[in-house]
Amino acid sequence: MTRSKITVANGDGIGPEIMAATLDILFAAGADIEVEHIDVGEKVYLSGNTSGISPESWNIIRQNKVFLKAPITTPQGGGYKSLNVTTRKMLGLYSNVRPCQSYYPFVDSKHTHMDLVIIRENEEDLYAGIEHQQTDEVIQCLKLISRPGCEKIIRYAFEYAKQYKRKKVTCFTKDNIMKQTDGLFHAVFDEIGQEYPDIEKEHWIIDIGAAKMADTPEAFDVIVTLNLYGDVISDIAAQIAGSVGLAGSANIGEHAAMFEAIHGSAPRRAGQNMANPSGLLQGAVLMLNHIGQSDVAEKIQNAWLKTLEDGVHTYDIYKEGFSKQKVGTKEFAQAVIERLGQLPQQLTPVKYEQGAALQLKPYVRKPPRKKELIGTDIFVHWPGENPEVLGELVSELSSESLQLSMISNRGIKVWPAGFKETFCTDHWRCRFMAVNQTGISSKQIIMLLEKAVEKNIEVIKTENLYTFEGKAAFSLGQGQ
Ligand code: NAD
Repeated sequence: MTRSKITVANGDGIGPEIMAATLDILFAAGADIEVEHIDVGEKVYLSGNTSGISPESWNIIRQNKVFLKAPITTPQGGGYKSLNVTTRKMLGLYSNVRPCQSYYPFVDSKHTHMDLVIIRENEEDLYAGIEHQQTDEVIQCLKLISRPGCEKIIRYAFEYAKQYKRKKVTCFTKDNIMKQTDGLFHAVFDEIGQEYPDIEKEHWIIDIGAAKMADTPEAFDVIVTLNLYGDVISDIAAQIAGSVGLAGSANIGEHAAMFEAIHGSAPRRAGQNMANPSGLLQGAVLMLNHIGQSDVAEKIQNAWLKTLEDGVHTYDIYKEGFSKQKVGTKEFAQAVIERLGQLPQQLTPVKYEQGAALQLKPYVRKPPRKKELIGTDIFVHWPGENPEVLGELVSELSSESLQLSMISNRGIKVWPAGFKETFCTDHWRCRFMAVNQTGISSKQIIMLLEKAVEKNIEVIKTENLYTFEGKAAFSLGQGQ
């Protein structure tokens, strides 16, 4: 076991109390760690730093590489950036790992055998935060999905399953609708899955998959999914497991990792020795496994399970007539410490292999594929209502090399031969395709745009249409 220096932030609200309780348990269990404290959160925000963290604290986090963070309060009002999102992105913490387990009958849950882990992509998708208002009526948010992003998270999910002896990895996407973006995630899942023949693999469409997970969570083991879907289903999973107060999560990157509880700073409970420290403790158990102190992690987890089993409960999970003792934060930590070395009798004891941070094969960029420009979508702000009128106007931009082939409104084809029932906004996509499907140059697109300016057609953006190895790499209009 090698001593690890970790960065610790006490956070706001109940943060300092649950952090003190967690560290007491870690040290009592023999964790070989050295703690360096930093200030983040409300105090830093209110001192005028809109990111909630100082440059000095960034240096400490980057130096120590392992960060245990209590929840923080983001002050109300605009201008304050979420420190969680900033930390994940700045440090490249691409993988969010959230185990969700039910501890029935010791904690109430409709699900008696739930034990799943959600692995959520943490950096991409709609969370890139690239949004633009383009017309009076329409705002756009860009969904960006990259091959390295997909490969890294999917490989992480399979390696996690291998290390923790999980049997199945399930992929959730919506690739029946988003054939390019979610389609890439699914294709990479199939591709990388082949490297893990001993692990069962399956894919669900997110809507029915989420419904199945909420109804029958025991049907799942490890779930890997994109950022937005993962955000939603990981909260559902924690809630149906029994309590959001019991779940921790890890945010893992190639250079650093952050561990936390999934709940917030619960300001109404602050300073009263009431809060349940279990969520942060679960984050700390993930951290101990990550830094190779799995024996300590195992000892703490089994003592914690025994404490739950013995009916020593904080107010949030206390059940009249079932729990044995209602305790505060400090007393709960003490009860866990007293049980270090014991195993639960009814809940299944954990057995961690001597773990360490997962070592993933580095991403290798593939050789570039043959890419050809074969058209352009120009997006037009036009306040009219009749697509036929716009069709006539925009057709005038066609040239010998580029011809108007379709107009769509919010993705639905409205020209030529649209339905009069289709509702139209002021945001129109006009698709120009290369005549004879041969490659064009970007100069021809510029000439088209110049013509649009001359004719007072307001182009708000363009998207180039490409083929890769001769295959169209863009979606068709609905109804096209
Ligand atoms: P919250 O998670 O703080 O509280 C929701 C409910 O759960 C409250 O009733 C609270 O009393 C209870 N609760 C939460 N943790 C508990 C614990 N450990 N023990 C017992 N009861 C607990 O969510 P909120 O009220 O929406 O947010 C409060 C603040 O936390 C906000 O400023 C928000 O921005 C912040 N927040 C921070 C994080 C983070 O730092 N990771 C996450 C979520 C919310």
